[in-house]
Amino acid sequence: MNKTTATILLLAMSTASTVAWAVDYCDNEVRSVTPGNASGDMLTPPSDAIVLFDGRDLSHWKGKTGPAQWDVHNGVLTVKKGTGDIESKQLFRDIQLHLEWLIPTDISGEGQRRGNSGVFLEGRYEIQIVDSYSNRTYADGQAGSVYGQARPLVNAMRKPGEWNVFDVLYTAPRFNDDGTLFTPGRVTVLHNGILVQNNTEILGDTGPLGRPGYEPHSSGPIRLQDHPDPSKPISYRNIWVRELGNAPAHATADDTPVKPEQLAIVSKLTLKQLLEDPARREVLARCLPELVPNAATTTYMNDRTLPQLKAIIVSLTDAKLNMINAELARVP
Ligand code: MG
Repeated sequence: MNKTTATILLLAMSTASTVAWAVDYCDNEVRSVTPGNASGDMLTPPSDAIVLFDGRDLSHWKGKTGPAQWDVHNGVLTVKKGTGDIESKQLFRDIQLHLEWLIPTDISGEGQRRGNSGVFLEGRYEIQIVDSYSNRTYADGQAGSVYGQARPLVNAMRKPGEWNVFDVLYTAPRFNDDGTLFTPGRVTVLHNGILVQNNTEILGDTGPLGRPGYEPHSSGPIRLQDHPDPSKPISYRNIWVRELGNAPAHATADDTPVKPEQLAIVSKLTLKQLLEDPARREVLARCLPELVPNAATTTYMNDRTLPQLKAIIVSLTDAKLNMINAELARVP
């Protein structure tokens, strides 16, 4: 292979890989979240969590027909038997959910009648809570099961008197306009840090009887169960949610707010100005490499290229344009 052929081949390969790769070099900002810290034996919520119970009150909760009536004492929420389930006032779809729950040391009863409660995603799909420490029951009714549908992969239960932790990743089902199912719900559950549901497909509303099925819905609350078994009530603490579906993926929304006057920076500054400034040219080279393949060169500032750049900018999605604007706004 002679030198010219090799160069052409190299150029062709680099062009091909530029086209094939979906890497977006402009999209280099991921939204920052400050993790929680250990506080005793508890992990505090991350900075973007919606805290549903922080130990103080039930202001984020309600009962089925009125105020939530469960007991709050010493930073802990305890089921008040006979007053009914409680549910978050806020409705959710796709979420990350953290909650901690405790079976009292003087728990009694057997099977499903021993510390039974549960957390219902969108008010419908129950992740079972029950004392499974030394208590046999059917597998798909154990702690960490998708109740009546999917057994936990393992029994990760701590003994009564010790706090159990659920971390739940939930993708809500989607429905077609005619109400038929488009995609089923899915759930991943860590019980005390141990995987017990691995992207499990939810088959529909959970319950002990009958064949599960879906009813179309758009969102729902986090619901906690007041189960009618006669055993001592269980407790909850440190309940928080991170919304996933609507959360912005990029830094521009939260952490690097773009001032209104900067939003139209691409259209305000002439393209010539943008390309003349080395720092701005670098941004465009990174964000629009198809038009400005080399930030160091100014050879693209000519009559042929500017209309092309203009056409490209006009064709950009708002998200991409906002991203470029945010990048340009950082240029001093
Ligand atoms: Mg239950």
